[in-house]
Amino acid sequence: MKILITGGGGFVGSHLAEAFLERGDEVFILDIGPNTKVRHLNQNPDFHFIHSSIFDDAILEGLITKVDLVYHLAAVVGVEHYVGDPHQVLSVNVNGTQNVLKLAFKHQKKVVFSSTSEVYGRNPKVPWSEDDDRVLGSTRIDRWCYATSKAVGEHFAFAYQRMGLPVTIVRYFNVYGPRLDALDVGRVITIFLGQALRNEPLTVVGNGQQTRCFTFCKDAVEATVAAGIGSGTDGQIFNIGTEVESTIYELARKIVDLTGSQSEICFVREESIYGESYEDIPRRVPDVSRMHQVLNVHARTSLDEGLRETIHWFCKQPGSRQRHKQTPQLASVAG
Ligand code: UDP
Repeated sequence: MKILITGGGGFVGSHLAEAFLERGDEVFILDIGPNTKVRHLNQNPDFHFIHSSIFDDAILEGLITKVDLVYHLAAVVGVEHYVGDPHQVLSVNVNGTQNVLKLAFKHQKKVVFSSTSEVYGRNPKVPWSEDDDRVLGSTRIDRWCYATSKAVGEHFAFAYQRMGLPVTIVRYFNVYGPRLDALDVGRVITIFLGQALRNEPLTVVGNGQQTRCFTFCKDAVEATVAAGIGSGTDGQIFNIGTEVESTIYELARKIVDLTGSQSEICFVREESIYGESYEDIPRRVPDVSRMHQVLNVHARTSLDEGLRETIHWFCKQPGSRQRHKQTPQLASVAG
């Protein structure tokens, strides 16, 4: 098969590309970012990296005509963007998705749209199954623009489905692993890891009792492949994750233990990190029965096992114990 992955230069996309290449498929990545996370695949004749944008119709359409299946992962992700540049989040995630769907519809190529657990917002009734309500805050709170942009993308996908395009939606729950963000940047695991490797205090936001279900990339990718090529997936939404819930404090403890760090754990006020335009989600837990039943995939990697592999990978990177600057990033989704 020939597969197009928009945003394939990002974290999830890079693992997805590897998985399809291992199956013997041909992979085309369309990404405006650097190829750092996929350059190890350059030697493979079935791998192609196209450095361009989902807004470049000629290039996007050329690729869509070539392939059998489209994974649309290109998006602006990361809390720093939700609160830092809502305009970019909304334009890329809404208009970009519409562009991909429009051209995929024209050529009748199935689209797997990568969405996020963020769409459930702060619905207090966990675990969330795919048809549960979205509970979001005011549009005055910038953090909700990401959830809203992904939900609009889902609505667009279903609108095209009604017109006859096969679509599948995957909602990721805190996917992590090697090649996640740079240390100190983006998501909590890479932030804590950077701090732990330098023996600096880990900055737990709030009281650290908020929970997440951290999903190892290998498991998430196995489910993502099945969502694209498995039967009975058209027109469906799948939560992609594990039901094993960890508090952020437990995560901090584990990272300190597994890295053998001297770091202390400190508690910081939410506003001091994210400003006033942010609301944290107290519990985020998926119901993964549909993933088990339809995709026949179980996320079996324990947090300890996945963190060990992640830490091992980051420690091998040059300069892993230096402080990293925060850099804006256009990449794929990790939920
Ligand atoms: N968090 C934290 N310390 C940090 C960064 C994040 O305690 O330095 C918390 C954050 O407040 C949230 C959780 O870790 O409760 C996960 O944050 P992340 O940005 O990884 O993604 P989210 O799951 O909120 O989308």
